[in-house]
Amino acid sequence: MTINDYVGFVGDQVRYRIAGDDEPVDDRWFGGRGYDLILSARGMMKQASTANGVFTARVTQESWNTPLPGLGVVRPFFAMHQPCPGRLLSEAVSFLCDPTVQEERVVQFVYTEDVWSVHYPEQSASVGSVTFDATHPDVCIEIHKHPGTAAYFSGADNEDELGLKVYGVLANVTEPGEPVLRLRVGVYGRWLYVRANSVFDGVSGITEVMPAIVRQKELVPGPLDVFLRRFLGSFR
Ligand SMILES: [Zn+2]
Repeated sequence: MTINDYVGFVGDQVRYRIAGDDEPVDDRWFGGRGYDLILSARGMMKQASTANGVFTARVTQESWNTPLPGLGVVRPFFAMHQPCPGRLLSEAVSFLCDPTVQEERVVQFVYTEDVWSVHYPEQSASVGSVTFDATHPDVCIEIHKHPGTAAYFSGADNEDELGLKVYGVLANVTEPGEPVLRLRVGVYGRWLYVRANSVFDGVSGITEVMPAIVRQKELVPGPLDVFLRRFLGSFR
């Protein structure tokens, strides 16, 4: 077995390690007082040694409610360096709300050389799906519409939206009232719901929905985003 690195050492009770292969077993004597926390391919493992053996257990999701010793807290976080102008959102919403189009549709927002633009990719669509080239490297935001259903991310959306960008679903596109938008930031298969005003500058003409399970502290409100943009200045 290989241990790639020691990433920290907290007193003489806990060591943090990164496993270099599938079975990180370390039978070195560790004084019988502490334990190792090992970042492994199958999650965080807790390992302790005695004079007569090694014991390894998985740190379960429930265990994470108790903070790991010696580590800081990293919360879900999103800040955009240069938000997209709200007029481009309005333009895209008009396109998606075309009452003569019954199928799904998608629009992309491209950011190149400090300039935002709306991109309408070639697409073939049905009422329940839309196929298009999602690999354009400069696309930062992608919004598709759900004709006739609610603004939620479907199982198919979860399988498709595995990149690093902001994803959106627009619904209520032909019914009375404002179109309904839901946005999330995707980080290669993990998502964080965000409000439109942390992505677009000047939002009008849409209603937002947020899932009930999203806790307020996980959201990045507009004013905080402005603050973060100024002091951190990067797309994270
Ligand atoms: Zn969808």
